[in-house]
Amino acid sequence: MKKIAILFILMVSVLLISCQQESYSTEKQDKRNYQSDHKKEPEIVEVNAEVEEETDEEEMSEQDTANESEQTDDTVEQEEDGLKVIDDPKSVELVVNKQRKLPDGYEPDDLVEANVSYYAAEGDPKRLLRQVAANALEELFQAAETDGLDLVAVSGYRSYQRQKQIYENNVATKGQEHADKFSAKPGTSEHQTGLAMDVASAALVAVLEQSFIETDEGKWLEENAHKHGFIIRYPEGKEDITGYSYEPWHLRYVGEDMATEIYQAQTTLEEYFGLYP
Ligand SMILES: [Zn+2]
Repeated sequence: MKKIAILFILMVSVLLISCQQESYSTEKQDKRNYQSDHKKEPEIVEVNAEVEEETDEEEMSEQDTANESEQTDDTVEQEEDGLKVIDDPKSVELVVNKQRKLPDGYEPDDLVEANVSYYAAEGDPKRLLRQVAANALEELFQAAETDGLDLVAVSGYRSYQRQKQIYENNVATKGQEHADKFSAKPGTSEHQTGLAMDVASAALVAVLEQSFIETDEGKWLEENAHKHGFIIRYPEGKEDITGYSYEPWHLRYVGEDMATEIYQAQTTLEEYFGLYP
């Protein structure tokens, strides 16, 4: 009797153990399945979701940009003789070129003379720049002097009226085609912004020529102008983009951050703003 009872207990416990094991392994299996399901599927879903989201965002931002530029074209910027009229001429980030002109008669209201060496006589408006650019020019000239170089400021601000005279005079004496090639139409000269200055080496002061880049001053400017917020506005090999031949002497103030980005990317203002396709 005792033997039977012990045998019965043994059988029951063996049965119990094997049942537990089975349920344990099923659980394990389930868990594995669950994990593998959840490891694979959500990943794919997530990746797809991200891609979709990004695409949506891109599409949306593209649309926004398109809407914005349409708005700018239609409501803010006006056209005149096929040229865009810049609506915010006071911005130091503005782009003036052969396609984008300043409003007729625009004159900056903060023109000052920088404390630097000038080629132009006292009282000449060529000595003027907007305050922010004049301050930066002083820093630039001081840095050049520290490095043993001798810069001279040749030509800064030029009024709408003055540019008109130059242009009309060129048309009268050299013909329309020549005038359009070598002088800016009134309103399209960057010198009217008060943010541009032509500079020269003191030794070659009367000459604004491409050979300026062969002087120590020209080389120094190319490498250092951006540190003080200026860019070489018409770089070599970018004539198709800027509309102007290489002018190593023509500096344009855009502020330190933008100047540094443009310098590092070896690009142009037009490309920086995506105005050149
Ligand atoms: Zn110039």
